[in-house]
Amino acid sequence: MLLWGVIGAGTIGREWMVPAINAQPDSMVAAVASSNLERGRLYAKELGIPRAHSSVADLLADPTINAVYISTTNEWHEPQALAAIAAGKHVLCEKPLALSLDSARTMVAAAAAAGVVLGTNHHLRNAATHRKMRELIQSGATGRPLAARVFHAVYLPSHLQGWRIDRPDAGGGVTLDITVHDADTLRFVLDDEITEVTAMTASQGMGRAGLEDAVMGVMRFGSGTIAQFHDAFTSPHAYTGFEVHGTDGSLYGRDVMTQRPVGTVTIRHGDTEEEVSVGHENLYERSVRCFNAAIRGEGDPAASGADGVRSLAVALAVRESAQTGRTVPVAGD
Ligand code: NDP
Repeated sequence: MLLWGVIGAGTIGREWMVPAINAQPDSMVAAVASSNLERGRLYAKELGIPRAHSSVADLLADPTINAVYISTTNEWHEPQALAAIAAGKHVLCEKPLALSLDSARTMVAAAAAAGVVLGTNHHLRNAATHRKMRELIQSGATGRPLAARVFHAVYLPSHLQGWRIDRPDAGGGVTLDITVHDADTLRFVLDDEITEVTAMTASQGMGRAGLEDAVMGVMRFGSGTIAQFHDAFTSPHAYTGFEVHGTDGSLYGRDVMTQRPVGTVTIRHGDTEEEVSVGHENLYERSVRCFNAAIRGEGDPAASGADGVRSLAVALAVRESAQTGRTVPVAGD
């Protein structure tokens, strides 16, 4: 049995990740560390976690813990991941991996040097819809991808309207929150690298302290494909979607930029449309299943640390483009 420690008693762990770890036949959450012991204890009780610690060091000192899941706000990811790696734990870290590329690269290098697995919790590449679109493109069903469009404008629910909208120091803002997911999903589905971006951001009433709550832009890929994206915290009525338009066919993913195992994929050739069969499964359970296998030396995490570096590089380039009004090249590994 792989024993996991959860760092940070937050929403994503409660809603998705603790249940996903406990849903595996070969893993369970054995401990949580929270900056607030009382809150950590309540969290542990609610989710059936045996132990609560008031410090990350105490959790990491437990030799029975094999892996940690880091779900704190973004400024903590780097120091907590480096401490966990130094303690010999495998690390599945929430996105964005860090606030700077140097930090993210340091995390990847530290994990490699220590021989532990580092993954980034980009859930969307675990979605059956996105996996199906990648498979269709690779099988030649669309021909050469010319363009993609990502519709990821949502309304941030009131219980999440905290650090994301008013704490730049915690990595708030829609770009680090949502655009990183677009970048990772586009890289995964198109199997291509983003080389440059151009973008504009807006503050439409939710973002404070100078934080953007909406962003639109264009990404260019190594192969020449171009992709449009729209991310927002401020759109209560919009569908999400992901489209790929190729030389021989178009793919329409509807309701697919979401945490839930839902959505449809339609393929269109000329005027003929066909809904493609998709076998939905819980995205976070698949993420943990792949990570547990990677710990055992069987394959890689669904999204690696290097994937987290790449998606962060795109998000930082999007921000820079919005600030400077220029097209910005995307840094590599
Ligand atoms: P939350 O605001 O719910 O929690 C973040 C951290 O804040 C917690 O880990 C906790 O740390 C602390 N905290 C929790 N409740 C309180 C409170 N009442 N008062 C003060 N501090 C509190 O954020 P999320 O869980 O939504 O996001 C955490 C991370 O996960 C982020 O990096 C985010 O980007 C990522 N995320 C990823 C998603 C995905 O699908 N991959 C989806 C959603 C988020 P502590 O217990 O140590 O104080």
